[in-house]
Amino acid sequence: MLTPYTAGRPLMVAHALVPALVLALVPAFAWAQTGPPPGDIDPQLARLLATMPAIDNHAHPVLPPPNLATDRGFDALPVDNMEPQTDPAAWRPDSLALADAWKALWRFTEAPPLSPEAVKRLGAIRDKVRAQHGERYDQWVLDQAHIATMLANRVAMGAGMEPPRFRWVPYIDALVFPLDNTGLAAATPDRAQFFALEDKLRAQYLQAVQLQAVPPTLDGYLTKVVTATLERQHGQGAVAEKFEIAYLRGFDFSDPSREDAARVYARLVNRPRPDPADYKLLQDFLFRFIVAECGRLHMPVHIHSMSGGGGYFSIAGANPLLLEPLFNHPRLRQTQFVMLHGGWPFVHETGALLQKPNAWLDLSQQSLVIPPRTLAGWLREWLEVFPDKVLFATDGYPFTESLGWEEAAFLASRNIRQALGLALTGMLRDHEITRDQAAAIARGVLHDNAARLYGIP
Ligand SMILES: [Zn+2]
Repeated sequence: MLTPYTAGRPLMVAHALVPALVLALVPAFAWAQTGPPPGDIDPQLARLLATMPAIDNHAHPVLPPPNLATDRGFDALPVDNMEPQTDPAAWRPDSLALADAWKALWRFTEAPPLSPEAVKRLGAIRDKVRAQHGERYDQWVLDQAHIATMLANRVAMGAGMEPPRFRWVPYIDALVFPLDNTGLAAATPDRAQFFALEDKLRAQYLQAVQLQAVPPTLDGYLTKVVTATLERQHGQGAVAEKFEIAYLRGFDFSDPSREDAARVYARLVNRPRPDPADYKLLQDFLFRFIVAECGRLHMPVHIHSMSGGGGYFSIAGANPLLLEPLFNHPRLRQTQFVMLHGGWPFVHETGALLQKPNAWLDLSQQSLVIPPRTLAGWLREWLEVFPDKVLFATDGYPFTESLGWEEAAFLASRNIRQALGLALTGMLRDHEITRDQAAAIARGVLHDNAARLYGIP
């Protein structure tokens, strides 16, 4: 049973602590546990990478106590109620890397997989640490992973998750689907859950702009709902907008005229079961309208671009090459697009798209699911061609009892530093870059590229 979203508001309280100072007190990552042998990474680079403060482009932190137990705002489409899929090895309870995170974060030294009793012991130690830190717990987690700033992809923020350590990235998919979604929901059991959640979130967005139902005309909908919601979220501190539209449909967005979209909207609004082709035309128009508005408001657009979630996810429909017409449209050139999760398995296609001045990619999810040496292969390719468009990101998410958002953020952060170390060491040893250039690329991926994109320190 899914619990309703918490209707929290982001708190805009500036924090007095300078992240870099806090991070300096935390010991460096231990490199000699799971992962590549230390000799494979240039020692000077390894030292530099181990504690360099990062901007995490994408994660789903959970609120600290006292709201921790009831928080469901960490995802618009929580993935814990989907039909069974084959989980990646890194999410499974016997993943060796888990032990590294447990030991570093909680001084918990049992080996995976844990028995039900051991899971309880792990939970008890975690709860103790959470209670010790209280509302400052989430900041403490960031310190352990050497993350200075985390972009929190959440429905709403809340106490203990304030700037400058946390920045808000809300969800906007719900506004692409303003008609009756019963037909779309019938496609798969997972989509039945997703569309029910999107309908609920859209109702919440309507309420926030003092509306009970969507307006009868497209003009009314665009002004009073879409633009009003984007401006409200921007005003409340949102630094980007997130689409997980690949869970709901493919990336094949056509470019319909406003007149055609207005006709479809007026004819189908508040009617049951809209014609699928007409509805798609309206969605295509709305998606383009939203990303253009994000460009006007200087909010980059985050797009889930990787295989998964769920066993019914259309991998072919989420090929990032399908996004090229958007990146190329002159009207959308002011919009910055971030392909979250680096487009796996289409890693070469995603890399080529970085040529567009408005296209970026981040390392979230890959950094958790793909081991560092494998990731280092295509990371090197990306860095050799477009080094200033790649962003550090973890996708820290409350996956399971043994892999919470804390372990996920910690492991992904360590894995990225290892993968970067391997890729940059290879480039150094092949005389492709100087030591200074290697350091600059490392700083770019971990921090400076995102700082430039969002205009944050
Ligand atoms: Zn995510």
